[in-house]
Amino acid sequence: MSTSILYHGGGLVGYDYLFTRDEQGAMIFCVRPKAQTVCCPECGREHVVFRGGKVRQFRALPIGNKPVSIEAWV
Ligand SMILES: [Zn+2]
Repeated sequence: MSTSILYHGGGLVGYDYLFTRDEQGAMIFCVRPKAQTVCCPECGREHVVFRGGKVRQFRALPIGNKPVSIEAWV
């Protein structure tokens, strides 16, 4: 799996692919936001001071009969 496949196949824009892990038969693609896509939601400026975050999982379309999730630090 690559960033290109996630972008073109899954419509995931602005994230870099890190790795894939298997959890109880499900495929989990771990991604992180590209530094240049992180901006202030209020004014849109790119100078952002991070004050925490958390890992979130988003359900994606299955591949064959395997459930797929995308895990990202937000
Ligand atoms: Zn701002």
